[in-house]
Amino acid sequence: KKDEVKGFFMRNAFVILTITAVIIGIILGFSLRPYKLSYREVKYLSFPGELLMRMLQMLVLPLLVSSLITGIASLDRQASGRMGLRAVIYYTTTTVIAVFIGIVMVLIIHPGKGSKDEFTKQQQIEQVSPADAFLDLIRNMFPPNLVDACTKQFKTHYAKRIIHVTVTVNDTIFLQNGTQQIAQEEMIPVPGSVNGINALGLVVFSLCFGLIIGNMREQGQPLRDFFDCLNEAIMRLVAIIMWYAPVGILFLIAGKIMEMDDISAMGGQLGMYTVTVICGLLIHAIIILPTLYFIITRKNPFVFIAGLLQALVTALGTSSSSATLPITFKCLEENNKVDKRVTRFVLPVGATINMDGTALYEALAAIFIAQVNDYDLNFGQILTISITATAASIGAAGIPQAGLVTMIIVLTSVGLPTDDISLIIAVDWFLDRLRTTTNVLGDSIGAGIVEHLSRHELRNNDLELGNKMVEQ
Ligand code: ASP
Repeated sequence: KKDEVKGFFMRNAFVILTITAVIIGIILGFSLRPYKLSYREVKYLSFPGELLMRMLQMLVLPLLVSSLITGIASLDRQASGRMGLRAVIYYTTTTVIAVFIGIVMVLIIHPGKGSKDEFTKQQQIEQVSPADAFLDLIRNMFPPNLVDACTKQFKTHYAKRIIHVTVTVNDTIFLQNGTQQIAQEEMIPVPGSVNGINALGLVVFSLCFGLIIGNMREQGQPLRDFFDCLNEAIMRLVAIIMWYAPVGILFLIAGKIMEMDDISAMGGQLGMYTVTVICGLLIHAIIILPTLYFIITRKNPFVFIAGLLQALVTALGTSSSSATLPITFKCLEENNKVDKRVTRFVLPVGATINMDGTALYEALAAIFIAQVNDYDLNFGQILTISITATAASIGAAGIPQAGLVTMIIVLTSVGLPTDDISLIIAVDWFLDRLRTTTNVLGDSIGAGIVEHLSRHELRNNDLELGNKMVEQ
């Protein structure tokens, strides 16, 4: 009996530790809140959390590049082509469903009452035209300098940021950290960039590079071995960081609860808006994605989701799907036993372009802003919102509150005031965590579905590899 308990604990150690960390983090945060610690004190207290973020972000670049290159190079051309096509179909379908849910929810619940009396604001937000933003997205796919793409953000002429935002809701002043953070750290989330790296450009390069060295037969072997080994080494680093993750998550959550604005101001329209986003995300994450997984694979989706728990909680704690990527890899490969050739190929692409939660939120938030302004949207405008929300979710980087910035494109496309982004900023830090969790769930379920659909190609690929080895 004792051995059984011990065995259970060892098998589920990460999940148990992570959930305990979340609970302790919440208790610690709320019990220290009454002391009204200064900004500096809160930052000291959340320092272990900041370290976790930095460790995870440190691994994103080598992990993204090495896993994509080895993933593609280990597959034959037909297998990678089919797998890629399936992934793209899955991403498009789920993003369109997410946008649809967002639109239906905001039209049914109608959280905006056509009055801005509750909100007073003062800010400067620059405009960006949707056409320029779209061209930026394409530009970022082809970084002119690869070294720059790994070290710097790829700024373009049209990259804009939100600056100096102060919002007052029901007499409570919110000085918004998300946007300030962007300004302070000079992080300008241009389409396709992640924490200073141009992820989209690197994804495109790695895909092509992997395809080429995969086709180079013996000549390509040294490069294949190199990236294989690099990938393995990075994954071992991830395994170490995973033990530290619960500590980091505990302090990230406690710190956020301490610096959180007064929740009582969340009444009225903003409160209803928050509830609407939560309902939309829940429907997508708990009903749509699991149903899709079940219909296609005939396996229990909740067992699959249970294996992802640590990644989901990390997404909740870090607000960043790219920082969560290393943990998502581990959960999928070790707990859910998803084939490494699939995770290496599909996950980095998914984390960069597939963001269901963000797409849902962008469409919903834009229509909410229209409602607050008493602006009647016709069918064509709603369609435009759905298209731009999809594009904005592809362009949004996997970093905290990136979706808030790409919202500018959605609002501009139907002539809504971009300044009004500030109306929803007060609750964005919270909704960002939820949509990031949905984004990570979408990518992971996608990997499970693509693996199932590609099982024949994977088996053929195994056979081919076996034949080659026999021949040699
Ligand atoms: N924080 C989100 C993510 O990392 C992006 C967003 O702001 O919607 O997935």
